[in-house]
Amino acid sequence: MAKITDLDKSEKKKKNSSSSSKKKSLKEAIEEDQNEDNDKVDTTHLYADNLSGDIYTETNANPKAKVHSTEWMKILHGDPVEINPSLGSGMKIMTVSEWTSRWKQNDRFPDCLACGSTNTKEHHFTQTWCRGKKKFESETICMDCHMWSWRSYVDPDFLTPEEFDKIRWEKMVKENEKAREIARAKKN
Ligand SMILES: [Zn+2]
Repeated sequence: MAKITDLDKSEKKKKNSSSSSKKKSLKEAIEEDQNEDNDKVDTTHLYADNLSGDIYTETNANPKAKVHSTEWMKILHGDPVEINPSLGSGMKIMTVSEWTSRWKQNDRFPDCLACGSTNTKEHHFTQTWCRGKKKFESETICMDCHMWSWRSYVDPDFLTPEEFDKIRWEKMVKENEKAREIARAKKN
């Protein structure tokens, strides 16, 4: 008997919850949707998750990535550099902090590899995905010691789409050759 009562209760509970959900106001429903969005997995740093090898690192006095390297030398020499087009036009002598003001920290790799400071800004970032395999590059400048931290990674079995196609093509050619050889052998 007890079991049946329990069942009854749970049945009633289900009914209650379903009816109450119907009564939800539009505002509540919207809020719930937003909460669901918040629960979604953050994919920003997915490129650096579950790596199957080590990240290659370097610290340099000058940027390893070519982008900004000419400007960096000008900054060091106190020569004017081009003003960001969104801020104005022309050339200006800038401090390092002025020049890097629009760059953001990479919160996945915030630390300077030279001094350990997290007062860093990223000037170069690329990520490439091919059939679930990944590759990335990141370079940051430290606002405290002005050293550049380079990080790069590639999955051991990473292939670019071009490399993948090349291998598939070569395999097909070989298979065709084999098929022709077999056909020739049969004729003889
Ligand atoms: Zn540093």
